[in-house]
Amino acid sequence: MAGAPERREDQPLRTVLHPKTADAVTRYLGLETVGEVLEYFPRRYLPRGELTRFSDLVLGQEVSIISRILSVSTRRLHTRRGSIAEVTVTDQLAPEENVASTGQASSGQGSFAPRLDGLAGGGLPAPDVGPIGETMTLSFFNAWTASKDLAVGDHVMFSGKVNEYRGQLTLTNPHYAVLEDPAPGDASEDADMATAPLPVYPATAKFTTDRIATVVGRVLDSIDLSLLDDPVPDDLRAKHRLMSLPEALEAVHRPRDEDEPQQAMRYFRYREALVLQTLLARRSAVLDAQRTLSFQPREEGLRERFDQILPFRLTDGQRQVGDEIAGDIALEKPMNRLLQGDVGSGKTLVALRAMLQVADAGGQSAMLAPTEVLASQHYRSVIKTLGPLAEEIGVVVLTSSMPTGAKRQALLDIASGSAGIVIGTHALLGDDVVFAELGLVVVDEQHRFGVRQRHSLTARDGGPVHRLVMTATPIPRSVAMTVFGDLAVSVLNELPAGRQDVSTHVVSLAEHPKWETRLWERAREEIDAGHQVFVVVPTIGEDAPGPRLPDGDGQETPLQSVEGMVRKLSALPVLSGIRLGSVHGRMDGTEKADVMNRMAAGSVDLLVATTVIEVGVDVPNASLMIIMDADRLGISTLHQLRGRIGRGELEGTCLLVTEQDHDGPSMPRLQAVASTRDGFELSTLDLEQRREGDILGDNQSGRRSTLKNLSVLRHVKTIEQAREDAWRLVDREPDLSGHPSLLRAVQDAGEQSTTEYLYRG
Ligand code: ADP
Ligand code: MG
Repeated sequence: MAGAPERREDQPLRTVLHPKTADAVTRYLGLETVGEVLEYFPRRYLPRGELTRFSDLVLGQEVSIISRILSVSTRRLHTRRGSIAEVTVTDQLAPEENVASTGQASSGQGSFAPRLDGLAGGGLPAPDVGPIGETMTLSFFNAWTASKDLAVGDHVMFSGKVNEYRGQLTLTNPHYAVLEDPAPGDASEDADMATAPLPVYPATAKFTTDRIATVVGRVLDSIDLSLLDDPVPDDLRAKHRLMSLPEALEAVHRPRDEDEPQQAMRYFRYREALVLQTLLARRSAVLDAQRTLSFQPREEGLRERFDQILPFRLTDGQRQVGDEIAGDIALEKPMNRLLQGDVGSGKTLVALRAMLQVADAGGQSAMLAPTEVLASQHYRSVIKTLGPLAEEIGVVVLTSSMPTGAKRQALLDIASGSAGIVIGTHALLGDDVVFAELGLVVVDEQHRFGVRQRHSLTARDGGPVHRLVMTATPIPRSVAMTVFGDLAVSVLNELPAGRQDVSTHVVSLAEHPKWETRLWERAREEIDAGHQVFVVVPTIGEDAPGPRLPDGDGQETPLQSVEGMVRKLSALPVLSGIRLGSVHGRMDGTEKADVMNRMAAGSVDLLVATTVIEVGVDVPNASLMIIMDADRLGISTLHQLRGRIGRGELEGTCLLVTEQDHDGPSMPRLQAVASTRDGFELSTLDLEQRREGDILGDNQSGRRSTLKNLSVLRHVKTIEQAREDAWRLVDREPDLSGHPSLLRAVQDAGEQSTTEYLYRG
């Protein structure tokens, strides 16, 4: 790009702030430029209202009070599960010297200690709290967060509704913002400001929300906002009745009423959606122009003969999606298709038929599996499914743990073209792998969102190949539109006939400790009936850290581990004589595959495993799955795990075992999994519980997500509008020459976006 003018938003903070302040902003908030400060938005707003002395509080009133914290303590609840935080505050603010040490308990044990002990219920050591005026005790149900955010000595603005508890006025679960210093006079300074909402910024103890507000205000005042880059074209802004960028910045940081921040956010969300959709529209245009090999179906070819020997009928979905894919790969335009279908819906079969069509026209196909276990399973099942045709087409597996000799032979077969179907792990991406005529890549992502598995497989001439990504997690439309942009999406929404029922139950050991014994008796019964059992635990060894609780509950309980479980089960009389196996992610590929093979062959009765088995493993004779510490696992993982049973003739039972009781934090999730096998329902629930960044797969990138204010679940309309606008714009003006600001934003987003590599290869 020639001579791009330096942008206002890239200006370093030192150009508008005192150097010391600028450095502090960078150190504590990680913000370096004017633009970054302007885009650092409040997390919420507090109604400012009159600042009130406690003695003036009126029952039922919405108030904001500034107060100083005297004590913080938590106590368990008797009537329901969990605990609450009780925070005692005073309307008497501390003298200046105490303010400086907010949160730090100073050493001198003042004369208030005895009284504080009474207030704090033995929670915290009593610091020097200064003078105490009127006091009030506030309760927080989010005990953990509140006790983390609030410390003795802090000056805090609380806002909420006054109610009464045991004859005392109080605020229950008020919103709060920790303030830098007491500002009792603030509200009276300016009549307008008395009603303006108070922005609460994501703050740190070192850099409080009101200090951030001051900094942002200074930046707003010192630059000409109209010179900032605004990617939203005027006509689109007018069409959607959006604020301009300067208006939106003022409104989000210095709102005059409650509506302004909301209007501002409409602008910011649309801006994000537009930039992202324009990026996707441009990529789509690029893809449309690409060319690759086309593979026409052949009469009496492998695929037709395969269909004739299939022992079952294709489901309607399999037939329809199969036709779509067959049409796609018969064209020179590379296919980019996402195939969604619940566990067991028969995606692999659909992929296999496509691979046969490619082979019929002399091309090769590669199938990428996420794990070695899965790759070898795909290999075995493809060989078995193809029957006599396997020899003819040539099926080869390649994983990194294969013996050298076998590997060399596989590489030869791939290079000579005698392997029509190549199944493998990321080992397929190695430099030593050279295809004679690669035409189709199938990526089996299982429950992931189809965005993590990068691959660089190309056609012989380095150009693109046809691509089919398979995922077992149904993706809501708005997410598909955002993450996958222009990927064509196919859905298999019925399971093949004859699939067995799996009944799922939540087993709370907190409520029924005796049921633990019953679990192992159940396992014994299944094994005696000639069936097999999976026992899933969250960790490998007793030393290994478990997965973080999805609910973020701070309590640490010891987790079940593979090692511990194997030891326990081997010693249990009720399980004496059974053949026990174990598998986990720290075992090497061959070891893992060996155990899984023995399980599949029926020579292991009970397999203790971590969630490594969640992907794809097929053991039709397994009828019972016991998932220990099920509360540690997310919805999709539980659903995937459960998909491992009920795959053969046998009905399955899945027991979700937890130490939580019926109103534990993870119970709703476990109950949801128990109540339905509808993968779409569960995945929507799952998405709602995740952070957006995780949905978009950019949580590890360390960079700020491309989507800051836009939620792919909540702002579907905005995304759809922006998509329409973006596609029309790019259609009319592919180079965006008339919209330099939008072009620049799109280029910036493109650098960051992790959706990008979807289009590589
Ligand atoms: P997915 O990969 O979607 O989880 P698979 O392709 O592994 O599902 O299919 C699961 C099982 O169902 C396999 O054993 C497969 O042979 C079988 N299967 C696939 N399609 C059908 C069908 N139309 N009728 C009966 N069984 C089928
Ligand atoms: Mg599968």
